[in-house]
Amino acid sequence: MNRAHSWGKADIHIHSNHSDGTASIPQIMEYVQNRTDLDVIAITDHNTIEGARFAKSLEELYDFEVVIGEEVTSREGHILGLFLTEHVPAGMSARDTVAAIEAQGGIAIVAHPFSNQGVFGPFGRNLFADAVNDWAFHALEIYNSLPFLVWANSMAAKMFAGGYGIAATGGSDAHYLEAVGKGFTIFRGSSAEDLRTSILNLETRADSRPHGLSFVWRIARNYPRIRRLQALNHERCKAPYAATG
Ligand SMILES: [Zn+2]
Ligand SMILES: [Zn+2]
Repeated sequence: MNRAHSWGKADIHIHSNHSDGTASIPQIMEYVQNRTDLDVIAITDHNTIEGARFAKSLEELYDFEVVIGEEVTSREGHILGLFLTEHVPAGMSARDTVAAIEAQGGIAIVAHPFSNQGVFGPFGRNLFADAVNDWAFHALEIYNSLPFLVWANSMAAKMFAGGYGIAATGGSDAHYLEAVGKGFTIFRGSSAEDLRTSILNLETRADSRPHGLSFVWRIARNYPRIRRLQALNHERCKAPYAATG
């Protein structure tokens, strides 16, 4: 197969028990290997890269690649940093958070942009235009598989369709094992470096696996446990942005 012309699949928004996810890194690695066809994953815990580093250290045992990521709680909302080498602290402005990610050669993605924990919030039309011009982030997460983000996803897709010269990505925002791979990014190639190149070339698109009722039920079943983990991780998740996502 000619890799240059094939398309790969990446779930670039996954939480582990290093923040408020319920699954351990080894559980996530086994699940991705045995239950998904993902080529690349990014572990993006809230405000830590410990779990992502652990996942990266196990990468050679598996058939897919791992990107070290972090979902950083900026003052305005959540920003995903991918291809990180250093932890990015929470609590900075969104603009400074994007700059800190880019300063270490990372990719900055505005996560679930129009959700309550999103940088633009449910009504952020004007701020969006400013941000595209001023912050120079790389991509907008236009698909997030959390079921209550349907409206926020469609808003993100609509804003993205404006042709702002930013890439579109999708991710599961998984907080438990069975959600991994429910949302993903299609990119040209199959490796983590191909993913980076594809984002920079605006060649990615967002896609999803159908949810079904059991998925919604699992979210509901896992929600109390996720909230308890968020409480335990209070400092790391920096309430009030701690709500699932
Ligand atoms: Zn989030
Ligand atoms: Zn998240």
